[in-house]
Amino acid sequence: MIELKATLFNRGNMAEYIRDVALNDNRSPKPLPACRCGNTALHIVYIDEERTVNVGSEDRLLTLKGVPRSYCDQCGRTLGDLRLAAKIETVLDDEILWRLNRREIIPEQLEFESLLSVTH
Ligand SMILES: [Zn+2]
Repeated sequence: MIELKATLFNRGNMAEYIRDVALNDNRSPKPLPACRCGNTALHIVYIDEERTVNVGSEDRLLTLKGVPRSYCDQCGRTLGDLRLAAKIETVLDDEILWRLNRREIIPEQLEFESLLSVTH
């Protein structure tokens, strides 16, 4: 099915097709399936997170705004997704490096959402 769609929309270029689909994917993030307290009805909240990024030879604080987390109404815990956290770190590091190489100013804050449409 994926190959047929890639042929239909991107002349069989699978990588281009997947990139297109990802860019047009506007679904909302799904909360984690369950909390440690047993609650299985978590919902997504968006929080601002401080991150340390390496800028040249110095470490700097950057606020990543609107990071999705799972929130539990029952016990008040906010749960992070470890896999997502690790991926954010990689993408953020790449983004900073890319901006440094182009001599762009490194912002003090960045929208999480903007990382989703990074194509370089
Ligand atoms: Zn809970």
